[in-house]
Amino acid sequence: MPAVSLKSSISELKGAGPKFAEKFSGMGIESIGDLLFHLPYKYQDRTRIAPVGSLRLGMAVVIEGEIRGTQVMFGKRRSLLCRLQDGSGVISIRLFHFSKAQQASLKAGHFIRCYGEVRMGPTGLEMIHPEYSVNTSGAFPPLDQRLTPLYPTTEGINQARLRSLIEQALALLDRQGGLAEWLPAEWLTPLALPSLTAAIKTIHHPSNSTDTRSLLEGTHPAQQRLALEELLAHHLSMQYYRQQTQASGAQPLKPSQKLAPLLLQQLPFQLTGAQQRVIKEISIDLQKSVPMLRLVQGDVGAGKTLVAMIAALQAIESGLQVALMAPTELLAEQHFINMSNWAEPLGIEVALLVGKTTKKARDPLLDSLEKGGIQLLIGTHALFQNGVNYHNLGLVIIDEQHRFGVQQRLALKEKAVIGSPHQLTMTATPIPRTLAMTAFADLDISIIDELPPGRTPVVTTVLSQQRKDAVLRRIDAACADGRQVYWVCTLIEESDELQLAAAQSSAEVLAASLPNRRIGLLHGKLKPKEKSLLMEAFKHHELDVLVATTVIEVGVDVPNASVMIIENPERLGLAQLHQLRGRVGRGTAESFCLLMFGDELSEQGKQRLEVMRSTNDGFVIAEEDLKLRGPGEVLGTRQTGAIGFRVADMERDQALLPLVPELATRLQKELPGHVQPVINRWLNKAERYAQV
Ligand code: ADP
Ligand code: MG
Repeated sequence: MPAVSLKSSISELKGAGPKFAEKFSGMGIESIGDLLFHLPYKYQDRTRIAPVGSLRLGMAVVIEGEIRGTQVMFGKRRSLLCRLQDGSGVISIRLFHFSKAQQASLKAGHFIRCYGEVRMGPTGLEMIHPEYSVNTSGAFPPLDQRLTPLYPTTEGINQARLRSLIEQALALLDRQGGLAEWLPAEWLTPLALPSLTAAIKTIHHPSNSTDTRSLLEGTHPAQQRLALEELLAHHLSMQYYRQQTQASGAQPLKPSQKLAPLLLQQLPFQLTGAQQRVIKEISIDLQKSVPMLRLVQGDVGAGKTLVAMIAALQAIESGLQVALMAPTELLAEQHFINMSNWAEPLGIEVALLVGKTTKKARDPLLDSLEKGGIQLLIGTHALFQNGVNYHNLGLVIIDEQHRFGVQQRLALKEKAVIGSPHQLTMTATPIPRTLAMTAFADLDISIIDELPPGRTPVVTTVLSQQRKDAVLRRIDAACADGRQVYWVCTLIEESDELQLAAAQSSAEVLAASLPNRRIGLLHGKLKPKEKSLLMEAFKHHELDVLVATTVIEVGVDVPNASVMIIENPERLGLAQLHQLRGRVGRGTAESFCLLMFGDELSEQGKQRLEVMRSTNDGFVIAEEDLKLRGPGEVLGTRQTGAIGFRVADMERDQALLPLVPELATRLQKELPGHVQPVINRWLNKAERYAQV
């Protein structure tokens, strides 16, 4: 019989039969080694007694003291309230369920020790149903020597059982001389980080001397050691994906000699310096025989569409097709309108393909695409469905890339004739640099950090919806001046019906209060055709006010619209608000954004709106969003599910982020054989598959 090792099934451990193994398997734990990477999600601190006077809300602590009195309270719900006093203060213990015996034991003059969470009750701090023991002498058993880990678990496996199995796994780890170490000690020592084996041991079994506070916060070197390796694994896997993509090669594209200069001649403006720089970076990439993988970041209104168009011209002039994918149909239509205007005088064939394109229009379109007639195809993810076949796809442009998952980006590869198409992705979400290096390790990054000249910054005002009347007068005055207005309705729920109802009622209120103004209503339930008719009408000033759900978030361009009202802005992320606000301030008139908050604005909500009021700089806003809401919101990973870490927390572990690319390069150079094992250790099979 082979000896038990870390690779053995956990059913080899004492107290874990095949039935248990099955339950563990549901949590992704098969081997004893896997169990070692099943990490506590938090710790309980029962190592010391907290003085009652020092307690704050939310603390989970041991307290000890004398019972001053106990009584049954008759409020909304009957409860037993017991007052505990130590030398420093008084706190209540509240039981909603209690027996006669319990009531009798909690007697004034007895001593009690409790472990529980501190909450706010009607008369001050309290603990509800803490674990407790009572005696008459005040002598309690010794406290724990170390923190107690709490593990994520599943039905039928309790904490005690988990701990016992993990203790056995740790003992086995000792007998086997530790885990394979992929990062040499010489790299870790200067960072004051322990070996992986030492880190794993500390995390599962903190010793008496382990720094309790840092462990509770997740900043202990042992935890940082694991977080670093996990971040590194993700980084390496993204780079691996990049190498795989680039290994397939791409068609090199010569810089456009004819089309791009022609387009630039026709424009009524000059490119900004930032646009010129980024256009050049892209052009150099496109001339290579490996696919470009580049992300262009630029604030709303920075002129990304034109940059994309010039990239497209380089491919088209080389005889290849270009696909531009936008996150919504409305945005796809906007791009189609803009780009067709540019493309027509150049004699370029442009087409639009969205989910709702009728079969009658679709069939000839697909036919022409396959024969190479269509040179630039614009649309939503419909562009990459089965049955859409390109003649020779050379460049894929993705607008607002953070809305697309890795999967969708991968679907592109199959459509290329030679290797992979070049990929250009564009986002208006300004992502702080260290975060971008972590989240987009597979992409080169260009930044358009300059707005076209002549834009007047939007003046933002934060006010309560109580002041709607003043807002209505403001709208009326703007319309009287020949300006146009956006009125944006937000909703927490992603329910089209509710959102529509809210927008409808706002439109009705507006129509009733401003009888002389022409008001349109744009929402997600409209047919694409109806949406574009409405947008066209607004663009041609046949409407004064456009009431809209957040569908107008991106891409809409009406320079004469200079006022935007956002209802309940507190429901949106700062980045999203910034995008919305970017719809105004596109012309030369002074522009206004009124953030009209609801009745229940929290302190943090106020702070966030204050950030919006005080700056128009997308990068500053993104940094603040990062502080206030965390990286998930900034990156929009909630939609894409792109990054799910087990240990690392991009906010808490920000200090580690700059180390990651450095270590990745060093590992690839000095210990290339360790790259794959690090990836395999931290990314589960599904994630690894998604990135290859
Ligand atoms: P975004 O970066 O938000 O996608 P757009 O590409 O929609 O911005 O550009 C916003 C507006 O600015 C468009 O009307 C576009 O034609 C115009 N624009 C782009 N580049 C310049 C420039 N260099 N000078 C003046 N206007 C420009
Ligand atoms: Mg855009």
